[in-house]
Amino acid sequence: THTIAATDADVWAAIQAEHQRQEDHIELIASENYASPAVLAAAGTQLTNKYAEGYPGRRYYGGCEHVDVVEQLAIDRVKQLFGTEAANVQPHCGASANIAAFMAFLKPGDTIMGMSLAEGGHLTHGMPLNMSGKWFNVVSYGLNEKEAIDYEAMERKAHEHKPKLIIAGASAYSLAIDFERFAKVAKAVGAIFMVDMAHYAGLIAGGEYPNPVPHADVVTSTTHKSLRGPRSGFILMKAEHEKAINSAVFPGLQGGPLMHIIAAKAIAFKEALQPEFKQYAQQVKKNAQVVAQTLTERGLRIVSGGTESHVMLVDLRPKGITGKDAEAVLGSAHMTINKNAIPNDPEKPMVTSGVRVGTPAMTTRGFKEEEARATAQLVADVLDNPRDEANLAAVRAKVAELTQRFPVYGG
Ligand code: PLP
Repeated sequence: THTIAATDADVWAAIQAEHQRQEDHIELIASENYASPAVLAAAGTQLTNKYAEGYPGRRYYGGCEHVDVVEQLAIDRVKQLFGTEAANVQPHCGASANIAAFMAFLKPGDTIMGMSLAEGGHLTHGMPLNMSGKWFNVVSYGLNEKEAIDYEAMERKAHEHKPKLIIAGASAYSLAIDFERFAKVAKAVGAIFMVDMAHYAGLIAGGEYPNPVPHADVVTSTTHKSLRGPRSGFILMKAEHEKAINSAVFPGLQGGPLMHIIAAKAIAFKEALQPEFKQYAQQVKKNAQVVAQTLTERGLRIVSGGTESHVMLVDLRPKGITGKDAEAVLGSAHMTINKNAIPNDPEKPMVTSGVRVGTPAMTTRGFKEEEARATAQLVADVLDNPRDEANLAAVRAKVAELTQRFPVYGG
């Protein structure tokens, strides 16, 4: 019997059911992935017991000599991975990494500029209900008529509003972002240039997406999306900003770092430094292109005209189904996806006219172009006949065939 089962059968049953769901469903949520067994194991070690406020070699607690080794490994590896001058691996998640970056450079009432949530940005980039929107004066940029970032409008707004900080980065934007162009605008208006690379971090690590590090003052990220680590965050910065960022993370925002998760991050960074991770990132992108092409052939519309990354937004209106209904019916066919507003979406945010599709998870379980194409065909099969139970049963059987051929963790 597993130790969890012996202690708590109820929690264990839910964990087992979730494990089975991950094996049996094709995961199309662009922000999810399957962390390696070593990463999972690290998160369940005795390091969870250790308090280590401060930084390696400068702690406020005794007994930190071993966790110091772990944190230093994580810092050194992430610096190597992204070619950055300095790094902080303590943020608990992507949102807290962003708040720490704001804290390092801003005061409440300052003006920030980020991509609007409705057009692909993240809620921490200035959404009214988020701290970023409540504490700062927010100017948003968005997309042009081709559904690409409107760099001209962004530049115009930057000169008009003189934001103290400009954020590039998105949660639902498929194209390559021109970080150099953002950096030039930031420099011209005297703004700090921050990139939130959470979605693209794995592709950047694998050399398959533009690296923002040479252009940005500060780069924030999560570790659990395309980078395939534990759920967490980190911050990269120019050496001149290291002190400000470190003191914003601790004692500014957080108390004790999660040393078990920092160990898991160190392992994930080591994995991402291996040559196989470059192949993984290439395959993620190839699979995304095949999915976009297949969905287009089947009559769906890909927002922005396609993808240059791991993610795409699919406009469902050609099929006459909402994002909410598509999410539910695809779920019943064992394909997990999230509804997502498309640019100028006529539907409410809880309904939407789109879904967001990503390939990091399917690629981790071993899907190549053939399986990516088959998956996109199954998505289209469901959307063509969403109320036909026999159709859904046939799709479920084909999903089962694929998922059994490509187990995630096995057992
Ligand atoms: N930044 C971006 C661009 C994201 O897409 C996300 C997560 O969806 C976050 C930050 C927040 O990360 P977390 O959920 O770890 O707080």
